[in-house]
Amino acid sequence: MSGGVGRRFCRSQRFGSLGGRGVGSARFDAIIVGGGLAGLVAAWRLAEAGARVAVLEAAPKLGGRLRAADDPSGIKLDAGMHLVAGAYRRFLRLIEELGQTHEIGWQARCTLAVGHPGKARLVRIGADAPLFALRLAMSLGRAFGLRAMGSLFRLVHTAPHPEESTAQWLARARIPPPMLHEWLEPLHRAALNAELDETPAATTAAVIREAFASARTAKLGWFRCAIEDALIQPLAARIARRGGRILTTTRVLGFAREQGRIKAFTRRGAWQAPHVVLAVSPQARAQLFGGPLPRARPITTVYLWADTPALAEPIVGLAGTPVWWLDVSAMRGLNAPPRLLAAVASNTPRPTPQTIARWVEMLSDVQQAHIRVRRIRTFSEARATFLPAASCPPLPEGFVDAARAPHPGEIPDTIEHATRRGETAATAILRA
Ligand SMILES: Cc1cc2nc3c(=O)[nH]c(=O)nc-3n(C[C@H](O)[C@H](O)[C@H](O)COP(=O)(O)OP(=O)(O)OC[C@H]3O[C@@H](n4cnc5c(N)ncnc54)[C@H](O)[C@@H]3O)c2cc1C
Repeated sequence: MSGGVGRRFCRSQRFGSLGGRGVGSARFDAIIVGGGLAGLVAAWRLAEAGARVAVLEAAPKLGGRLRAADDPSGIKLDAGMHLVAGAYRRFLRLIEELGQTHEIGWQARCTLAVGHPGKARLVRIGADAPLFALRLAMSLGRAFGLRAMGSLFRLVHTAPHPEESTAQWLARARIPPPMLHEWLEPLHRAALNAELDETPAATTAAVIREAFASARTAKLGWFRCAIEDALIQPLAARIARRGGRILTTTRVLGFAREQGRIKAFTRRGAWQAPHVVLAVSPQARAQLFGGPLPRARPITTVYLWADTPALAEPIVGLAGTPVWWLDVSAMRGLNAPPRLLAAVASNTPRPTPQTIARWVEMLSDVQQAHIRVRRIRTFSEARATFLPAASCPPLPEGFVDAARAPHPGEIPDTIEHATRRGETAATAILRA
């Protein structure tokens, strides 16, 4: 029996009849469509288990949303600066297995530093082990008063309703406004890349539960080099070592089913296997297979080379703004001036030069030091992360879904979620 799979089947059939090199001849145990983190994790797990895999990636480079860009300064820049949370269990295990633990730097202690533009105050909220929960509550009490300690307790014991938004949930828990605006809101925006009324309370509750489980999970970390070097290349090398094939500039245009196998059609030919791991973004998934377009949110990373002393902490949030300032020089151990900073603006499209100047001014205010900017380079990703979605149409038989947006109550669209999607997809095929 043969039949079309996916909306693009009719178009893809044309390519199937071109008879290009490799058409109908390249057979694998699994084809992985998409060479971002989820796809590479799935490919490695499968290749490790002895499966013959092929990764088909549309872009000229692997990495997807973790891609890097060369810069005239000689520094390889991530198109989006990524933070790592201590709660990223599966991701950190992956990093360890790749022997790349040394490429992740961590805060000295579990601290979130939030600056107050205009008031030049830096609030440090955080705690060490042992007695982490008690110390965290005390640090909140010091920053926001005794009521804040009680509201943390109330929050933990106010179960979110299934349909309510984070804003509704926090209102029910009667969080005092300073604690909301100076701690929970910036934290929420950084973790979920969305506003409080856009996210399901169940997702935020899951983040808080996982992030504040202990001093080990409640800390933030960063990559000490470009993510491409720390993660993507090591993964690709291991896949290749296990005999996996990786093809870039190879966009999958559609699929067809033939004698129990699925054919993936590209301009370079067709690849076939009994299983296909779909590891594209939720947007590309909807384009290939239909269904509602998922809601995405932007992130902008503005790199600045500036004459300025080191930031008070490697990560400094600015209360009342969508911006987190990162001291990239400190994170990467770059000692030569000028200092490289990055302003990461969650849920924010490309800013105007005036907006960037205002962010710099606010940081100068918090740092109480003049910041002279020498050069700026901006990366803006319109679809940086996808909001949780209650459901998406299932994929046809033979396809394994590593492309869906997170469900409400799951952790959000992060490198941890991508790792979990990739590993779950590989396990599903190995068990089949
Ligand atoms: C600017 C920015 C900042 C971020 N910050 C953080 C952070 O601080 N912490 C965090 O945890 N997460 C962060 N994220 C989110 C994180 O990057 C993503 O969750 C993760 O990289 C998603 O990986 P993925 O493999 O699922 O998807 P993607 O990276 O989107 O990979 C999908 C791949 O599929 C390919 N593809 C699409 N269509 C086809 C096709 N038809 N044929 C073949 N290939 C195709 C694409 O080219 C792409 O390479 C950030 C993202 C951005 C953009």
